[in-house]
Amino acid sequence: MTTAGRGSAETLTLAGVRKSYDSVLAVRDLDLNVAAGELVALLGPSGCGKTTTLRMVAGFEYPDSGAILIGGADVSRLPPHRRKLGMVFQNYSLFPHRTVAENIGFGLRMADVGRAERDRRVAEMLDLIRLPDRAEMYPSQLSGGQQQRVALARSLVVNPKVLLLDEPLGALDKSLRESMQFEIRTMQQRLGITTLLVTHDQEEALSMSDRVAVMQGGRILQIGTPTDIYDRPRSRFVAEFLGASNIFAGKVAPDGRNLLLPGPGGEVPVPLAEPATPGAALTLSVRPERMRLAAAAGGGANFTGRVVGAVFRGNYAAYQVEAAQLGRELIVYRQADGPLGTVSFRLGDGLTLGWAPQDAVPIDAE
Ligand code: ADP
Ligand code: MG
Repeated sequence: MTTAGRGSAETLTLAGVRKSYDSVLAVRDLDLNVAAGELVALLGPSGCGKTTTLRMVAGFEYPDSGAILIGGADVSRLPPHRRKLGMVFQNYSLFPHRTVAENIGFGLRMADVGRAERDRRVAEMLDLIRLPDRAEMYPSQLSGGQQQRVALARSLVVNPKVLLLDEPLGALDKSLRESMQFEIRTMQQRLGITTLLVTHDQEEALSMSDRVAVMQGGRILQIGTPTDIYDRPRSRFVAEFLGASNIFAGKVAPDGRNLLLPGPGGEVPVPLAEPATPGAALTLSVRPERMRLAAAAGGGANFTGRVVGAVFRGNYAAYQVEAAQLGRELIVYRQADGPLGTVSFRLGDGLTLGWAPQDAVPIDAE
């Protein structure tokens, strides 16, 4: 154990930050508080303003208005090298003609740190990224994952106040990405370094972060813990960006206890978890893995259906089920937890499906 708890963690604050490029408003009045030692992910589709936000924190762009504070000090107008940041991007951008040790020690040399101290800290970093015997190798002799660990070490060796990661694992294949998610998260937690991560990959955001900020059109739509964001989306956009969802839009029944869903044979009542205003428009989101199949428990919504699509996904199966009363298809996931070789449902199977009222989350209709 080497570098734990260096105590360099600082808060990062974005206050009303706005940035446009010509006619494009890339980031609109964005507010964000990252606590000391916290990892917050900016998650959203391409073009939503993630990189622009990160570049403003880095100092490569200046905001048109608003302020960026690190440890309470306004850094909005400081050049990048005066902000004491660590940065890792998708393309590792290591120096190809320098050894691993020289790459990691580069920032220390620029800061005129003496040879002995430099060697000590580089060795410490090599231990941290578990590549102690690769010091004299060149980047081309390392795998993609190892190169990205070296890039991370190079950014951390200078004890940055804040670590910025822009799609750091985007160039790696899936299995490597997963192990690197663990690795970066463990390192970040061990060092207690304040981190802003940019990604369009929902799984990456959910698995690595203390909190996830979902962005759309230059704004943060919702910010919360991974479970919050996933289980309690407040809008259709958030519900659908973080995995699949069954969305039900209807009108609250006169009794206030049921939602009336439109169907080809007339309105279909489904029970609500909480009483609502009679006549009000209401939209619910139900995650595919919360849908119940077969003999659904009483008390919830229940429909008869027919399997019209079945896809094997390894650890679970995804089904499309045609629900005649609703005149639409629903998506249902079943965990593969039976004995090997068992299949729950096949194309054409008839079944009963539904959900418990508390598993249906009210969202903005949009
Ligand atoms: P993301 O990283 O979420 O994909 P960006 O921050 O890169 O989004 O881009 C946000 C918006 O700003 C997009 O509409 C993009 O086209 C635009 N944009 C980004 N950088 C520039 C630039 N240098 N010049 C003009 N428009 C840009
Ligand atoms: Mg980007």
